[in-house]
Amino acid sequence: MDLFEYQARDIFEKHGVPVLGGVVATTPDEARAGAEELIGGGPDGVVVVKAQVKTGGRGKAGGVKLAHSPAEAQEKAAEILGMDIKGHTVHRVMIAQGAKIAEEFYFSVLLDRSNRNYLAMCSVEGGVEIEQLAVERPDALAKVAVDPIVGIDEAKAFEIVETAGFAEDLKAPVASVIRSLWTVFTEEDATLVEVNPLVRTEDGQIVALDGKVTLDENASEVRHPEHAELEDKEAADPLEAKAKANGLNYVKLDGEVGIIGNGAGLVMSTLDVVAYAGEAHGGVKPANFLDIGGGANAKVMANGLDVILNDPQVKAVFVNVFGGITACDEVANGIVGALEILGAEATKPLVVRLDGNNVALGRQILADAAHPLVTLAETMDGGADKAAELAHAAATA
Ligand code: GDP
Ligand code: MN
Repeated sequence: MDLFEYQARDIFEKHGVPVLGGVVATTPDEARAGAEELIGGGPDGVVVVKAQVKTGGRGKAGGVKLAHSPAEAQEKAAEILGMDIKGHTVHRVMIAQGAKIAEEFYFSVLLDRSNRNYLAMCSVEGGVEIEQLAVERPDALAKVAVDPIVGIDEAKAFEIVETAGFAEDLKAPVASVIRSLWTVFTEEDATLVEVNPLVRTEDGQIVALDGKVTLDENASEVRHPEHAELEDKEAADPLEAKAKANGLNYVKLDGEVGIIGNGAGLVMSTLDVVAYAGEAHGGVKPANFLDIGGGANAKVMANGLDVILNDPQVKAVFVNVFGGITACDEVANGIVGALEILGAEATKPLVVRLDGNNVALGRQILADAAHPLVTLAETMDGGADKAAELAHAAATA
């Protein structure tokens, strides 16, 4: 889960990373009040009005603006709220205390999956887009591997600032901030902590002026129940939210063929097979990933079908199940039961391919039920082809 900047700021503060004051506002009036709180309504202070969207390059896109009074903060907030930044609508701004920037640096630490390790990156040339720096001037971006067991201890922090080429007097203070950022990374179970820019202010403070944090959702339920509050519920796809509430493993995609399967591997390969089959049928594609897992009883099947059939883009559904511990007859009964539960809500054709434990009985149950929407398929390829054909026919009807 990616966090908004203001959430990253709060987490930084909690772990002792130096940040400036910041308050969130969803209206220009709130922005004015926030600015008053931060600069006391006086004429001297500067605040920064920052679009809160989960994408970079806000500054370049006009989503970061300085304001010299609460009234100006209100004005800038009115300009920024509602703005579209790379397809993200701005619903909130953060009003942050302004900083007098002397220098801008870059620091990040992330999970380096391909090397089964952590990687710290650091540069004395921050503020700019780091991808661009990495391509144009790779020498300016220090990359230091971090042993997961040792972490960023004092020696590692100094190795990072030395490799990045910090001036002598900045090494100790920057290393100290880096160690606090490492605390954020480990204590919060993050997979990415990035600060761009990390700045030196004119009065010599090292401050994290921007923050990007990605939390490992695998740690949410048990280790960090408090992370649930950080989820952006408004932005969640309503179908994904419904699926999540029903404990279903569902990801919305943008094709026309709804997919239900059991087991992540089978569902992934079903997506591939349907995408391939779709090439012969007007280019239809899978509409979702949905793994109903082991216990595919009628209720689970009904919940899954309910989510998929409520996706207006779905024109046909391919149910591809391999009977194991939950045998094919139970799955077949699940499908028949699900169609009964859904009744008139089920309006789209279903292609069902069953294989594995008790397959003959499963097919018999579906054949006996003879539901007008259900077509039985013998093979996975055949089922994918049929579902793609039906989806294309419905889409062009
Ligand atoms: P991003 O463009 O989405 O990465 O947003 P940032 O938060 O990094 O802001 C972009 C740029 O705005 C920074 O690199 C700074 O140069 C500038 N900026 C941000 N906050 C302040 C501030 O408090 N004072 C000043 N003078 N500039 C700031
Ligand atoms: Mn930034």
